[in-house]
Amino acid sequence: MLDMSLLFLSSLIGKAATFKFNPSGRSGVLYFHRVLDKPSDNYPDDPTIDEFDELLSVLKNTFTIVSLKELASTRQVSRGKPLLGISFDDGYRDNFTNALPVLIKHGLKATFFIASQGTEEGILWQDKIIECVRANAGGSDALYGVGGALDGLSESAKCRYLMEYLKRMKVFSRNAIIKDWEKTLGISSYPRLMLTREEIKVLSNEGHDIGGHTHNHVILSVESQQDVKNEITRNKDILEEIIGRKLDLFCYPNGHPSFDLDADIHPEMLREAGYSYAFTTLDGGIGKDSDDMLLSRFLPHRRNSHLRAWSSAKIMGEVA
Ligand SMILES: [Zn+2]
Repeated sequence: MLDMSLLFLSSLIGKAATFKFNPSGRSGVLYFHRVLDKPSDNYPDDPTIDEFDELLSVLKNTFTIVSLKELASTRQVSRGKPLLGISFDDGYRDNFTNALPVLIKHGLKATFFIASQGTEEGILWQDKIIECVRANAGGSDALYGVGGALDGLSESAKCRYLMEYLKRMKVFSRNAIIKDWEKTLGISSYPRLMLTREEIKVLSNEGHDIGGHTHNHVILSVESQQDVKNEITRNKDILEEIIGRKLDLFCYPNGHPSFDLDADIHPEMLREAGYSYAFTTLDGGIGKDSDDMLLSRFLPHRRNSHLRAWSSAKIMGEVA
């Protein structure tokens, strides 16, 4: 049950925010990945349904919640509450089963950035790792080929280590390694964790925006320019075919502008592919001076207090 004094406080903050706490009139975009049935160590930064519901109740009182396209094109309001956009990365199925009913309840729209390989296969590489570690519970860690790095770690810490280990490999090498694990563990299929084509179509028809996120969720700075072009185009073509309209919003996988993309190459590549706005994962607000193809966002829900403090400092502009 949401505390009414919290709602009252958030409404006061909303009224004051534009002039007192936000004199430069900056806007913000939040990003989520999943909305969970119950908290999970494997997805520590994702809210449960109840937490998401409570968060939206407060945010709606404090901000004017608009689509990312409206926010990116108008940038600020001179009067009233600051603008806020809501986005989801990757295309998890619980965005449809868990987040959508809450968004409908609050009358809010969001943008869903989807890596289309997940739509086709039902699972992305990082969740295959979780399934492999689960299937190998009690077995030998020698399988993963990382020496003693996993000794004494919990199952979720092993998953996080292996995700970091594979994250910056080219998609071809990463897939080959995971295939080897699957073979040894006898895994031939996975549960569907990602949105189906039909669910994406419903989200779009309900007035939510669908955005691009590459096909295989590749980090752009890791792959060759030709492979990145193919990843962007393949993803855009698949999603446009599903929803029957053009995409103009993109978000960079992993998304740090200094490490995960080349700001001299990839924004232009996205423009050539037909995108108008692209979002990073660099914590920060969006002002009139922000680059259309390098728009900041932030994670609103970090359970780790160190990360939460670090994120707040970055939003305030104290650290890069
Ligand atoms: Zn992503």
